[in-house]
Amino acid sequence: MDKFVYMFDEAINKTKELLGGKGANLAEMTRIGLPVPYGFTITTETCNKYYDAGKSISPEMERQVLDALNTLEEKTGKKLGDPSKPLLVSVRSGAVHSMPGMMDTILNLGMNDDTVEGLAKLTDNPRFAYDSYRRFIQMFSDVVLKIDGFYFEQFLEEIREEKGYTSDPEMTAEDWKEVIKGYKEIVTKHSKRAFPEDPKEQLFLSISAVFDSWNNQRALVYRRIQNIPDHLGTAVNIQSMVFGNMGNDSGTGVAFTRNPSTGEAELYGEYLINAQGEDVVAGIRTPQPIATLQDEMPEVYQQFVDTCQLLENHYQDMQDIEFTVERGKLFILQTRTGKRTAQAAIRIAVELVKEQLISKKEAILRVDPDQLNQLLHRRIDDLYERKQLAKGLPASPGAATGQVVFDADEAEKLAKDEIKVILVRPETTPDDIHGIVAAQATITSRGGMTSHAAVVARGMGKACICGCEALKIDLKSKQFKVGDTIVNQGDVISIDGSTGEIFLGEIPMIEPQLSDEFQLLLTWADEERKLGVRANADNPEDAKKALDFGAGGIGLCRTEHMFMDAKRIPTVQEMILAETYQEREDALAKLLPMQQEDFEGIFEAMQGNPVTIRLLDPPLHEFLPDKEELLVEVTKLQITNSNAKELQEKEQLLRKVRQLDEMNPMLGHRGCRLGMTFPEIYVMQAKAIFYAITKLVEKGIAVKPEIMIPLVGHVNELKEMRQLVINAALNIEEETGQKFDYLIGTMIEVPRAALTADQIAEEADFFSFGTNDLTQTTFGYSRDDAEGKFLQAYIENKVLPENPFASLDQDGVGKLVETGVKLGRGIKPGLKTGICGEHGGEKKSIQFCQDVGLDYVSCSPYRVPLARLAAAQANIKHEQKQRELQIQI
Ligand code: PEP
Ligand code: MG
Repeated sequence: MDKFVYMFDEAINKTKELLGGKGANLAEMTRIGLPVPYGFTITTETCNKYYDAGKSISPEMERQVLDALNTLEEKTGKKLGDPSKPLLVSVRSGAVHSMPGMMDTILNLGMNDDTVEGLAKLTDNPRFAYDSYRRFIQMFSDVVLKIDGFYFEQFLEEIREEKGYTSDPEMTAEDWKEVIKGYKEIVTKHSKRAFPEDPKEQLFLSISAVFDSWNNQRALVYRRIQNIPDHLGTAVNIQSMVFGNMGNDSGTGVAFTRNPSTGEAELYGEYLINAQGEDVVAGIRTPQPIATLQDEMPEVYQQFVDTCQLLENHYQDMQDIEFTVERGKLFILQTRTGKRTAQAAIRIAVELVKEQLISKKEAILRVDPDQLNQLLHRRIDDLYERKQLAKGLPASPGAATGQVVFDADEAEKLAKDEIKVILVRPETTPDDIHGIVAAQATITSRGGMTSHAAVVARGMGKACICGCEALKIDLKSKQFKVGDTIVNQGDVISIDGSTGEIFLGEIPMIEPQLSDEFQLLLTWADEERKLGVRANADNPEDAKKALDFGAGGIGLCRTEHMFMDAKRIPTVQEMILAETYQEREDALAKLLPMQQEDFEGIFEAMQGNPVTIRLLDPPLHEFLPDKEELLVEVTKLQITNSNAKELQEKEQLLRKVRQLDEMNPMLGHRGCRLGMTFPEIYVMQAKAIFYAITKLVEKGIAVKPEIMIPLVGHVNELKEMRQLVINAALNIEEETGQKFDYLIGTMIEVPRAALTADQIAEEADFFSFGTNDLTQTTFGYSRDDAEGKFLQAYIENKVLPENPFASLDQDGVGKLVETGVKLGRGIKPGLKTGICGEHGGEKKSIQFCQDVGLDYVSCSPYRVPLARLAAAQANIKHEQKQRELQIQI
């Protein structure tokens, strides 16, 4: 029979997939003897069964929950609904992957008109009892009965005003009773039913609501951003309550065992005295730093510090721990692997190796390559004299500039129009997640370093400042004030998330550098990886940057970028407009030294590392003015009849543009097809390369050129272009007396090339898979149109699992790559193969490249560090897989 429910001490050795992250950790902490309030976990499989049955809890599930409840009651000596010894429980979601704040939670379940009296008597604290009850009604109504919290807040505000209070602690037990009465009336009015007094009914309604919250809007959005599969489902944890709001000897808090922003090995967290868990996370009251707990409760603090150490050693990773102190006694409510910035992830991984807690391989696997983008972000120039407007808590590092917006929807809307915005809110809730995603950075005036905004922003690598109380935000008039300064929606501000500073206007930023720990981790990665990592670079500056970031060569130098230089365009146009062979030769002769200079710069920057130069690829009309604009100009000149010479020139240009115009340029006269019809262009480029080599050899600088022919679909194209390059080399060898050592290879970027790679290999010294075009031609999706037109909808509706232009489609495009490698190596066993499409800098695609045996990946210079790490992870995982296969055999 299916087992739906596990008690915490029964769930030993059960997986996180079954129990959810929270449930698995609660079971583990119970096993190692930590003070965890007792309870049980309903599995993730149960959630899926609940959905399969049309969102219904089966009688068997119900029976198992009731059995577990019995055990819980026996163990705690309390009983759900019994006023003389009331058991109160929390009902919390807990997915396999942490999804902070995205799903629902209910606290204090079991309260009703009877148990509240019992609790008041037992604790001798009626004020606490009634406060807990009203909190429960409000939370239950929100999560289960879907009544807007606003009605309750408004009512509470009225009562407070009537009594002349400014804050909740002034409320007496009698006042809370009055609030409860009003709250119940709100429930009856808005849900057309009385508030459920039966605790078992409360329990089952809450379990369903938590299951339902797996598919609420914010959870769906979060999963899409984090690539978490929808089919996993959430577990539900039911745990006896402990109370942090029982007076000044109680409290609740959250702490990380290391600083999640910087990675420093220090306890980092905050707490609130006389408060309940959600108060810290929700960011409604600004909490105290954890260090001050040492003065307020020295023994509890010491016990907590020891527990943190124990948990970190046990899990061998930084932990994010929730705790509650109930009348001087410490309880651990939850531990999980703490979310961290990229900077912290690297430092923690490196230091855990130094502390001999984990191996270098493990450290490499601990850092998510996708996160590294954060480190390659710009920061505020050190030379900038900082004149801050205000300062809050440095919740997530990085610098950002943007227009102020006060609303998540607005942030999303403006970001869609490519306007950079900074989201400013009193606090954020999980409903604001799309705004945080869209904004460059987020600022809140309330809440601490572990508030919702901080946790979410850190996870995404976005800058964030929290608890900036100097900001007096007025959401209605869309402005905030700091002293006398007023900042309106639309005004530009800048922030430094590493210091918590806010500045007016835009301020100077500088390029990123790699920290010592990052460099060290990358050297470990280099020892582990088999894949080479090269960069796509078209000029000496990018080449230098690539080398600084550890690239082993250039995998793609797109020569057309050299043609697009504004100063060169007239000569390029001259070449295109040439009516005779001689005119074209003259223009090419002018272009040759320019190209040669480019190649010399790149070869020199690369210091003897291989450089793959691709001959011209795009259709020629790309170098001419836009047809429509030209037509307007010609028409104007015809009407004014003012400048006959200019008119004649423009008319000639227009004629040529029309001649070159194509219905479908991506599939048109481009790539090696240009070289076939205008061989003199490729000859010029080849000569420029060989002259450049001659110059560098004279200077004593080594060069490893690899000349690449684009968009080959038939071996005869390559045969002809190869001969053309060889002839150019021979001519210059004869002219200069130099002997050249070079390779000639091809891009594999149309399906026919992959399918006939055995024939093509006969003529190629290497293959470079151009997976941008190969994706385009395999799917038949135009690169320029798909992303803006239908691809987003395809991804949202799950027609495609993800954007195939970003992450390689392994089933289709990948199969062609694999076929190409196999066929090519069948002819030439050592054939060098690489990838130079965008996928070369994406971790899953890199894993694929490793698995099919490519020699290298090539990506933009800024992605080189990411690719080095991902390549190391790919090799470690590949070896793991091989070992597992061997064991099976
Ligand atoms: C490719 O097609 O993958 C490629 C690298 O070439 P480009 O993007 O320049 O067409
Ligand atoms: Mg291409």
